[in-house]
Amino acid sequence: MQFQRICLAHYHELGLKGHNRTAFEKKLMYNLQALLDRPCVEKVIRISGRILVIFVHEATEEDAESTVGLIARVPGVARVSCGFSCERDIGVMCEAAAQALAEAGEFTTWKVVARRSHTDFEIDSMQMNQIVGAHLCERFPDKPVKMKHPDVEVHVEVVQGHAYIYALSVPGVGGLPVGTAGKVVCLISSGIDSPVAMWRMARRGATVIGVHFSGRPQTASTSEYLVDDIAHVLEEFGGIARIYIVPFGDYQREIAMQVPPALRIVIYRRLMMKIAERIAHKEGAKALVTGESLGQVASQTLDNLAATNAAVDMQIFRPLIGCDKLEIIADAQKLGTFDISSNPAPDCCTLFMPRSPETHAKIPEVEAVEANLPYDAWIDEIMDALELHEYRCPSSYWRAKRREKDEAPAQA
Ligand code: ATP
Ligand code: MG
Repeated sequence: MQFQRICLAHYHELGLKGHNRTAFEKKLMYNLQALLDRPCVEKVIRISGRILVIFVHEATEEDAESTVGLIARVPGVARVSCGFSCERDIGVMCEAAAQALAEAGEFTTWKVVARRSHTDFEIDSMQMNQIVGAHLCERFPDKPVKMKHPDVEVHVEVVQGHAYIYALSVPGVGGLPVGTAGKVVCLISSGIDSPVAMWRMARRGATVIGVHFSGRPQTASTSEYLVDDIAHVLEEFGGIARIYIVPFGDYQREIAMQVPPALRIVIYRRLMMKIAERIAHKEGAKALVTGESLGQVASQTLDNLAATNAAVDMQIFRPLIGCDKLEIIADAQKLGTFDISSNPAPDCCTLFMPRSPETHAKIPEVEAVEANLPYDAWIDEIMDALELHEYRCPSSYWRAKRREKDEAPAQA
């Protein structure tokens, strides 16, 4: 029997605050609609306490599996289940349950969890457990039932007009839907850390705008290609909206020529922050984000972090400040950016690197050196030379859809 394939995206009730709840649910639905705009998906709708993804009739098990994998990575999704929607006929429901269990992957033990949200269905949940359970015992004679902590739970849910049957269920990344927590500007290198920092902010519901400082024209554009590859990983789940590329090599060269070696790194970084802050104002973003963690390199001592902070008024978030490198690597591997970041790329921090950088920069000293640099003129020049890369994220998807709709009558 061919059943209608579905996925159910569940979210953590706990994370949702009172009256904001509907807004969060709608945002998650819109995000999933944008990210699941693919031929195998018919529609994405909100049902009580979950988001329901309905596949087209021709969708295969592989289509469902790859869609589950994607939904599980979308911020705001705590768990995804995958199965079927069928008519409210107990015989049909038993068949759907057998197919759902057959597609649940490797397992030994199982149990049925039945629920009816409408008492207009004549069989109650206890009876459904028994009837569907007996059918599955017949179909899977070698697989024992286990009531406590089975490998798989076969959910049978009767709602108005349909029954949902699902067994395969995987944890999601949790967090909040992108677009519910405002905008941030994240300084992204092609290294391991900043993509993880970026992902953490997206997972807390922020819309993330990246800024990458390229060593061009003093170096090749390798780091820009790597950053673009990283952005393509993040855009799959809506984790990046756009990236500004800053050709920064000439300014670094100028700094290298005019600033004592020990202070160069702090001064590069302060200039980077000032530019990121200007971009944040332009974008309406309210915070800057970096992938720094305490003590990891010379620029990440408390004194140097303070000297960097002092360059701007905007708040700077460092989601990885207390993380160990091994934890960050594990996150980058899960995220899928580790291999890209492991490629060597000369960026503007490797270029003109002093041999023994200052680890305890003093703000007045740094400011005195900067007073001799044409900072404001540089910043204006740099702002005029920014290169913008757009990525597919839910907000740009819906903007494009609205544009299409607005333009449609004019063409007719
Ligand atoms: P990462 O692995 O993210 O590059 P890192 O350990 O190499 O970090 P640094 O090179 O000192 O550390 O950079 C610290 C942070 O500064 C980065 O996480 C990133 O947020 C920002 N950053 C460094 N280089 C660049 C760059 N070329 N463009 C944009 N941001 C950068
Ligand atoms: Mg780096």
